Amino acid sequence: MDEKLLKKLFDAKLPYDKIAEKLQTTKALVAYYVKKFNFTPRNKYSTIVRRAGDVIDDWTLLESFIQNHKTYWTCRCKCGVVKNVNVSSLNRGRSKSCRGCAVIGRKKLDKNMVPNAYFIKLRFGALRRGIKFSLSKTEITQLLELQNFKCILTGLSIGFKESRRKNDTSSTTASLDRIDSDKGYESGNIQWVHKDINKMKQTFSQEYFIELCQKVVNFKSG
Ligand SMILES: [Zn+2]
Repeated sequence: MDEKLLKKLFDAKLPYDKIAEKLQTTKALVAYYVKKFNFTPRNKYSTIVRRAGDVIDDWTLLESFIQNHKTYWTCRCKCGVVKNVNVSSLNRGRSKSCRGCAVIGRKKLDKNMVPNAYFIKLRFGALRRGIKFSLSKTEITQLLELQNFKCILTGLSIGFKESRRKNDTSSTTASLDRIDSDKGYESGNIQWVHKDINKMKQTFSQEYFIELCQKVVNFKSG
């Protein structure tokens, strides 16, 4: 084995199989000679210095320790869970958060949370009334999730009837409201409210509607 040539290819960061190809030998032999000639390991992560307080994805590094020749970091997840994580898992991005948060992260947005029928009816109704409509179903679904399935004005739980029967909306309580009725169904001008609240609010401005509600409460309880 030509040590100089091997060193040159090794330092050029060529993968072992490519080096083997060039030297007309095998990958195993390349690895063998790399060890034999004592070349410095070229682990691309070996130069990364981790410090306590570093943030990697959802982890905050607390302190490191070595166990069975492996380096571990005691990490705190954004949710507060503390775990010992192998440094190579951190370096390779295999560990980004605690298991609980990883499961939540993988949970895909259920696009059927807002039924297709509701979306189509909403869009059709808007167009029929000459109201601008530039929303996607994904967008309004994300908004409902962001509001935690609660009416933004009353905090009441809202949702959709899960029914196979068409047009059965008897227990659908979610209703998409335009914040400013002079504007269309567009990003930034929508909010989910309880359907009865939407009926009451009509085309009133949010401020006026809340003012009216306050007056009712004050007068009736005063
Ligand atoms: Zn977590």
